[in-house]
Amino acid sequence: MFIGHFAVAFGAKKAAPRASLGTLILASQFLDFLWPILVLLGVEHATIEPGNTVVTPLNFTDYPVSHSLLMALIWSAVVGGAYWIVKRSVNIALILAGCVTSHWVLDALTHRPDLPIAPGVPAMVGLGLWNSFAGTVVVEFALFVAGIWLYVRTTAARDRIGSIAFWAFAAFLLVSWLGNLFGPPPPDVRAVAWISVLMWLLIPWAVWIDRHRVLRA
Ligand SMILES: [Zn+2]
Repeated sequence: MFIGHFAVAFGAKKAAPRASLGTLILASQFLDFLWPILVLLGVEHATIEPGNTVVTPLNFTDYPVSHSLLMALIWSAVVGGAYWIVKRSVNIALILAGCVTSHWVLDALTHRPDLPIAPGVPAMVGLGLWNSFAGTVVVEFALFVAGIWLYVRTTAARDRIGSIAFWAFAAFLLVSWLGNLFGPPPPDVRAVAWISVLMWLLIPWAVWIDRHRVLRA
């Protein structure tokens, strides 16, 4: 899943209006922010295998540190705990932890059974929505629209940047997603990992957007 994870961050703004959109994206995409770093370090592995599922040519051969259920729960505690230490809000810390966990749940819906339960445990899960192109498009796009709708209902642009930077961000996500869906398979996994590392830049972009938007009454 790609834009569905961002949808969670947009939607979570309604539940945690005082949390920055950047923080919410860090949480909802946390496992995918870790993954490329672990791949580049040689800790986790993937191969390019067109036809692996209808939607993605990526074959996630092993990624227990970033994408096992046990580690997802631990990362949820780490992200929520770090927020609590810095900002002392239990409420927002719990919502951020929920955002991190949601990533694993949504991945379990979309991936074929390649998601580990825990490092070293052979059992894998995945309901395989990625085996249906139409199903993937409908579910992800519906989530995305719902998330955007909640965010726009919760916040209003304070100035032109608050509007333009936000809609440019939404358009960028949509175009990147369509590129993944309809573009040619990437040349190799390292290229995918480097592009994914650049996704970290979406966090300051989202922080910038949020600073130019205000909460609606
Ligand atoms: Zn993921």
